[in-house]
Amino acid sequence: CGIVGYVGNKNAQEVIIDGLEKLEYRGYDSSGVGIIENGKLRVRKMAGRLSNLEKSLEENPINGNVGIGHTRWATHGIPSDINSHPHTNSSGTIAVVHNGIIENYREIKEDLEKNGYKFISDTDTEVVAHLIDFFYDGDLLEAVFKAEDRLKGAYALAIVSENNPDEIVAVRNESPLILGVGENETIVASDIPAVLKYTKKVVYLDNKDIIRITKAGYEVYDKDRKKVNRRSEEISWDVESASKE
Ligand code: GLU
Repeated sequence: CGIVGYVGNKNAQEVIIDGLEKLEYRGYDSSGVGIIENGKLRVRKMAGRLSNLEKSLEENPINGNVGIGHTRWATHGIPSDINSHPHTNSSGTIAVVHNGIIENYREIKEDLEKNGYKFISDTDTEVVAHLIDFFYDGDLLEAVFKAEDRLKGAYALAIVSENNPDEIVAVRNESPLILGVGENETIVASDIPAVLKYTKKVVYLDNKDIIRITKAGYEVYDKDRKKVNRRSEEISWDVESASKE
C-alpha cells in the first residue's frame, strides 16, 4: 500500500527500497520495482516481505536512475508474484504501480480484450498498463491523460516507460500521493516519510492531478488538464520523528 518513484542521479533501486521501508507501516503483502536500466525497463516483484525483494536486488541489482516501486495490499487477486506490482504492457516497455481500486476494470478489460490485449494477472491494476499502451504514441503524459479519462475509483498511480526514460508520470485520485523536490532529483510517494531523507521540499497534490516529474522538477496538470501551479512547502519535522509517527 505504498508508492515510491524516483528520477535523479542516485541509484534508483536504493532510494525506492529505502522509501518503501518508510511506508511499511501502511501494511502490505507483496512488493516490486520497475527501473530503467540502460534504456530497458526491468521489473522485479514478489509476494512476501520487502526484505525478500531487497535481498534479490542486492544479489542481482538493477542499475538505473529512474524507477518506480510498490508495496501491495491485495484487493483484486491473491498475493502472488504475478499479481504483484509493477504491471506492464505485453511488450514490457511500460510499467504501472497502483494503490487503490479501479472500479470499472472489468469493462475496460473486455474492451481491451476485443482489441487483442492479453491479461496475465487477476488484478484491477493490469488494465491501466494495457490502456496506456493502447493510447501511447510516443508521449507518455498524453497517453496517461487519455487512459485516466476512462478510470473510475480510487487510485494513486506511478508510470514509467523505457521510451520516455527521463520521466515518471503519476496520478492522484482519492489515494494519497505527494512530491518531494530535491536538487537534481524528484520523488513521488504515498507519504512524506519516504522522501524526507532526500528533501524537505514537499508538494501536496489535489484529486485528479496528473504529474510529470523529471530530475529538473515537476509539472502538474489539474482535472481539466490545465497546467497549474502547486507550490512546494518546507517540512520542518525530521526523519526520526516522521518515521515514528
Ligand atoms: N487493487 C490493486 C491490487 O489489488 C492495488 C492494491 C493496493 O492498493 O496495494 O493489486
